[in-house]
Amino acid sequence: MNLLRVHAPNRHGDRIDRFTTLAAEKDGTTSYGVELGPLGTFTLRVVSPWYDETTHQLIGYVELGMEIDRVLQKQRDFFGIEVFVLVHKDRLERKKWEEGMRALGRTPDWERFPTVVLGTQAHQKVPPLLAERLVRGELGDADSIINMAQGGASYRAAFLPLQDAGGRSAAHMVLIADVSPDLNAVLHTVYAGSIAAVVAGMLLLGFFHWQVGRVGRRIERDEQALEDIATHDRLTGAWNRRQFDELLAREMNRARRYKSPLSLIMFDIDHFKKVNDTWGHQAGDDLLAVLSVYVSANIRDIDMLARWGGEEFMVIAPDTGSEAARLLAEKLRALIENGNFGEAGRITCSFGVTQFQPDDTAESFTSRADAAMYAAKESGRNRVCGSENPG
Ligand code: GH3
Ligand code: MG
Ligand code: MG
Repeated sequence: MNLLRVHAPNRHGDRIDRFTTLAAEKDGTTSYGVELGPLGTFTLRVVSPWYDETTHQLIGYVELGMEIDRVLQKQRDFFGIEVFVLVHKDRLERKKWEEGMRALGRTPDWERFPTVVLGTQAHQKVPPLLAERLVRGELGDADSIINMAQGGASYRAAFLPLQDAGGRSAAHMVLIADVSPDLNAVLHTVYAGSIAAVVAGMLLLGFFHWQVGRVGRRIERDEQALEDIATHDRLTGAWNRRQFDELLAREMNRARRYKSPLSLIMFDIDHFKKVNDTWGHQAGDDLLAVLSVYVSANIRDIDMLARWGGEEFMVIAPDTGSEAARLLAEKLRALIENGNFGEAGRITCSFGVTQFQPDDTAESFTSRADAAMYAAKESGRNRVCGSENPG
């Protein structure tokens, strides 16, 4: 089950004190792991910080949790062995645990064993031999395999310590294989039984780990997809207008701080209405997409192509003065003039170029590029004009 939980940290009962959450808070990145709940259940949890994309302010945390009792049940069915999870009492609060058990319709028995309680998933009967050991407080050493025999029955048990996301010892998993029939058969089948128990344990731990990683990777992929949708224009794949504003502000700051040149190139398709009228709106859309790919492929990696609106685009060219920007615009103009754009065939564009001035605002900077482009339209289209020297 996936949950989106919204917490108000200052409200009573809303504070979360879990390792995954604290780790996400501390590092500001996605964190995940297995957590022990108040009822002794284990949950795979992934916590991811959630930022406002424009202000980069932290809004909160998105948290996904999945209880993993079903994994244990699979284990039982698949390997034909018993699996018990014994949760260490010092990791639980007795009152909460007992209330929870009653809520689940079980009879809580906190006093049955001195140091552990049975996990909620344990519907099964504890074999008397294991129960005796637990009453004596013997958990068995990590990775030890213990033989237990009573009457005609014979078991092998493996004790595996379980840690939670914080690396704290939280529980023991006991795997029990009934090896009675094997006792009368050859000795090596007994060994096979115990090896199967240990292998099963390792598989289970591996499965935990894999599940956690899988959920984590899914979240990262979804985050990436959301980010792409938020920052890119859907039709052309260029940066969208909002992202353009961010990128421009960032580059203007950089140019001011390092006194490096920065230029803007604005261009607009000439007589684009005719393309729509002649070939249809879809052909117009296709042309915009192809043009965007074409221009992207012919600018440097550090240049940024954004869709400014309709059929108008902007190129932010860092570390580029007005002369170099003019040359770049001229190169693009010639490429487009000689390019082939499918159904619509040949098109041309008009370009306006301007260099950043230290006292520019985003507004004054972009409107100079716009005015230069307008001058290019006015003086006959399919040409490059600079703001310093319109016409
Ligand atoms: P000019 O040479 O003066 O730029 O002439 P123009 O025909 O290109 O005129 P203008 O730039 O004013 O008009 C742009 C047209 O582009 C208007 C609109 O129908 C069309 N357009 C804007 N956005 C889109 C789009 O996303 N898809 C399509 N197919 N057409 C669009
Ligand atoms: Mg146009
Ligand atoms: Mg236009």
